[in-house]
Amino acid sequence: MWDYQVAVLGSGPGGYVAAIRCAQLGLKTALVEERELGGTCLNRGCIPTKALLQGAEAWQTVQTAGRYGIKMEKAALDYATLAAFKDETVQKLRRGVESLEKAHGVRMIQGFGVLQDAHTIRVKNDPFTAEHIILAMGSEPLKPNLPGMESDYVLTSDEVLAWRILPKSVVLIGGGVIGMEFAMLLSGLGVQVTVLEMLPDILPGVDAEITAPFKRLLHGKGVELLTEARVTAVNAEAHSVTVQYAQSGKEKTAQAERCVVCVGRRPMTSHLGLESAGVILERGYVKVDASMRTSVPHLYAIGDITGQAQLAHVASAQGLAAAANCAGQTMRMRYDIVPACVYTHPEIAIIGKSEEILRQEGRDIKVGRYQVAGNGRSVILGDAVGLAKIVADAHTGEILGAQMMAPHATELIAEIAVAMRAEGTVEELLDTIHPHPTVSEVWMEAAHDMEGVSVHVPPPRKR
Ligand code: NAD
Repeated sequence: MWDYQVAVLGSGPGGYVAAIRCAQLGLKTALVEERELGGTCLNRGCIPTKALLQGAEAWQTVQTAGRYGIKMEKAALDYATLAAFKDETVQKLRRGVESLEKAHGVRMIQGFGVLQDAHTIRVKNDPFTAEHIILAMGSEPLKPNLPGMESDYVLTSDEVLAWRILPKSVVLIGGGVIGMEFAMLLSGLGVQVTVLEMLPDILPGVDAEITAPFKRLLHGKGVELLTEARVTAVNAEAHSVTVQYAQSGKEKTAQAERCVVCVGRRPMTSHLGLESAGVILERGYVKVDASMRTSVPHLYAIGDITGQAQLAHVASAQGLAAAANCAGQTMRMRYDIVPACVYTHPEIAIIGKSEEILRQEGRDIKVGRYQVAGNGRSVILGDAVGLAKIVADAHTGEILGAQMMAPHATELIAEIAVAMRAEGTVEELLDTIHPHPTVSEVWMEAAHDMEGVSVHVPPPRKR
């Protein structure tokens, strides 16, 4: 009766994963995409930025290679080649997604899909029906409603990723994840960076004892980081931008060749016929339950449009849940164990609840820390700066959260994710033999600290 059992609208890490899982579950599936397969993550987000950051890291390795006895007469950075590497990486992974969809028998439909009614999608005046629909349209960079912001010369992450030549100087508006990743990337490539952040600290959700050494690192790279600096207007021209901001009750200005706005992303939920299909929106986001069902039971929504953490891995997990539920299984999402990563150098990763939040909630907790400076592998890597911190229930020892700035932190947070998923305790972490020398030992050391049995920390001074 239906053309498809499931139609997925949007092919980001939510949509393309959902489509494959639907097909694996035996459902006849269509995947509608207007632009390139892979969505923001693959084409304008996670993958291209990490490819560029890898180049910036290689450039730093070249510059510090002297300490390993490597002598180079002339090293030069050709940004156009790095940008081409980024493009090739994206294309290669996009071809991978395309072949996976084909191999699973997913029908790919190119074009902008609109809901004609609760069971019908129209693409280029061509309607088709589906028993279930999974909405996965994603988000786009947000420009705040401030004077001058509408100018084409006020850039977003999308335009930065299309650069072939680097500017000499940049003002970044917003000290969140995108702002900090760009600050690290661009300063590492020799661009003079100024960051304007309206809150008292950068990276919302990350503890001050992690952001403090990170800010010192940025400072060392010549980044001018201004907090409690609320941008009020922008005057942008082709090669010169003046950004006005308010700080300590005074109106000030920052100037640069380019200005990039990184103050969040807005859900792509307009002009799609959602409301007429009966889908309830809240502040522009699609309202969903833990099964990813919208207010219309056979319509599901996943990813950035749902108002949960705007993270690719959350979108994929939601996609798997939606697919299972379309197939008549029961799968519900939980968001208490979601790792969040900042791809700076060194990297930052957090999971679970922070010490501050748990104390606000009145939880009886204990905290363990370990300074990365004491970790042998980090010293060898030349990146022995940062902190590992674990928070656990004071009575049961169950791990409730962790934060880290360390080399490879984005990989190492997975250990805590698995421990938390298994309702593991800090005693179990402490008892687990960690390989030596590795950065992962900092988790074990933080657990030792929590139990007051640190080996690699001097004892407190006797009075
Ligand atoms: P964000 O919400 O993380 O940070 C935006 C920052 O801009 C905030 O700190 C806010 O206080 C500040 N701000 C807002 N208005 C301002 C003004 N007028 N003047 C000065 N500062 C102002 O947003 P983002 O960094 O744009 O990231 C968008 C989303 O994408 C986030 O949900 C993020 O988690 C996600 N993302 C994740 C990754 C990753 O996982 N590594 C990478 C990039 C983006």
